[in-house]
Amino acid sequence: MFNLDSLVRPNIRAMKPYSSARDEFQGEAHVMLDANENSLGSAGPERFNRYPDPVQRAVKAELAPLKGVRPEQIFLGNGSDEAIDLLVRLTCTPGQDSILILPPTYGMYEVAANLNDVRIERLPLTEDFQLSSETVAGVVASEAKLVFLCSPNNPTGNLLHAEAIEQILRGFRGLVVVDEAYADFAAAPSWTTRLEEFPNLVILQTFSKAWGLAGLRLGMAFASPEIVGYLNKIKPPYNVSEATQQHALQALRDAARFEGMRQQLLRGRDWLAERLPAVPIVETVFPSDANFLLVRFRPDATAVYDFLVSRGIIVRNRTTQPGCAGTLRLTVGSPQENEQLLEALQQFE
Ligand SMILES: *Cc1c(COP(=O)(O)O)cnc(C)c1O
Repeated sequence: MFNLDSLVRPNIRAMKPYSSARDEFQGEAHVMLDANENSLGSAGPERFNRYPDPVQRAVKAELAPLKGVRPEQIFLGNGSDEAIDLLVRLTCTPGQDSILILPPTYGMYEVAANLNDVRIERLPLTEDFQLSSETVAGVVASEAKLVFLCSPNNPTGNLLHAEAIEQILRGFRGLVVVDEAYADFAAAPSWTTRLEEFPNLVILQTFSKAWGLAGLRLGMAFASPEIVGYLNKIKPPYNVSEATQQHALQALRDAARFEGMRQQLLRGRDWLAERLPAVPIVETVFPSDANFLLVRFRPDATAVYDFLVSRGIIVRNRTTQPGCAGTLRLTVGSPQENEQLLEALQQFE
């Protein structure tokens, strides 16, 4: 039933991708005069005079065994935000097609759609931020080219029920994009474990959260080799810099640090989740599988937000998001930051 070629925009199917110098010749040569680079070297302390590998082979070779996928099932981008934009552009003809989102959710899906003149269909999550059976049926019936399922969801922190996602994977005709930016903090297995079963599945992950590399800008998409091939066809030729590729390789070889930070952030989440309910202005602490907690405050979350700002503590005000009235999103910080946050909330008046 799922047919990738009929989902991809006709102009993208037909187009010939840019062929870079590094596409046409790979490997080491004595004299490299094919790319108008500067053979003398680089300004600044390090050498970056050569264009990077356009398809990041070394990083993918290191990442594939870690994620339990094949290198040809990996797309790397300038943050997962690049993958979000490319997925919209791959499938949606501007002024004609639509994407489907389930609010409250991550804001970049909407921005990518608006930027590309793509319509947005919305089916809301339930009060406890899950997919009702009506919503699943609505997704399956939709003509949208792709649906974004954020799990664990931002800003709510919860995993979406796996059975609902599976029903969508089996019934929806477009691409099913499961955004797992927070998967490293979640108690459930990643959907990468189900990649071989679903040709319409795309999983997004990122180096920006548990890896602690938000400033590097490196995002991952896992999908069939056919989908990855299309994303590579339409991406800017050198979308991941040499500096980023080198740094990512070093990070991947520092798994102990990653695991240590991950565990510490999970302990910080538990520490906050245990103490916040005792704070008088806290009404609800929503369960979280991410590195943040969505918290409902009474009587006035924005007053709490302003009070925290006055104390030099910045959190995310989510009060205007659908289903999120009265809430702030609190990122789990260092132990000291968590203590400062709790102390400030206890002193609110
Ligand atoms: C933080 C986040 C991302 C990460 O975006 P990058 O561009 O990789 O930094 C993606 N999706 C969601 C839902 C996020 O919260």
